Amino acid sequence: MQKILIGTHNKGKFKELSYLLPKKIKKISPIKLKIKSPKETGKTFVQNAKLKAKYFSGFTKLPVISDDSGLCIEALNGKPGILSARWAKKYGSFRKAMKVILKKIKNKKNRSATFVCSLSFINSRGKIFTVVGKIKGSISFKMIGNRGFGYDPIFIPNSKLITFGQMYKYKKIKIDHRYIAFKKLRAKIKIF
Ligand code: IMP
Repeated sequence: MQKILIGTHNKGKFKELSYLLPKKIKKISPIKLKIKSPKETGKTFVQNAKLKAKYFSGFTKLPVISDDSGLCIEALNGKPGILSARWAKKYGSFRKAMKVILKKIKNKKNRSATFVCSLSFINSRGKIFTVVGKIKGSISFKMIGNRGFGYDPIFIPNSKLITFGQMYKYKKIKIDHRYIAFKKLRAKIKIF
């Protein structure tokens, strides 16, 4: 494989997936090909990851990798979950969405949360492979750290004392939900 389309308009995801994929593969962005985002009509991360991979592969003959991910908070019955990006839109920004979350769970004892990532890969023959990766942790009491993207400043992975937002990029990339999913995908397709 010489080239791959990374089916996302999210710069944070694009950077992480580019880092995980072998250096010798050229990474193409849908922004460069002027392809818009699809409507996320799925009810699960898996459904949305598949939907995105199929949508993007409709525009190109290249293999495609797509990601659907989000933060599931136990005290909020798993929300924002698949609505993670939409909450940021609804409340005006990720910082505002994080403020809303911190307020909503202010008095909750249970601050457990899971970052979930489903990755879907479509090869050049149209065969699709889909996996899920998860990392458990908890929600911090305030936003800390300005590294990373999205909800990184409020997520502390289990067995760590700092948020994803405080972590060096190369450290977060090697433990997060996307990496766990990527390892499963790599084992399944044996290409990367
Ligand atoms: P979607 O997969 O396009 O629906 O977007 C998922 C949203 O979840 C992203 O916009 C991010 O804000 C959030 N998200 C997913 N993965 C991460 C991560 O590794 N760190 C922080 N936020 C994330």
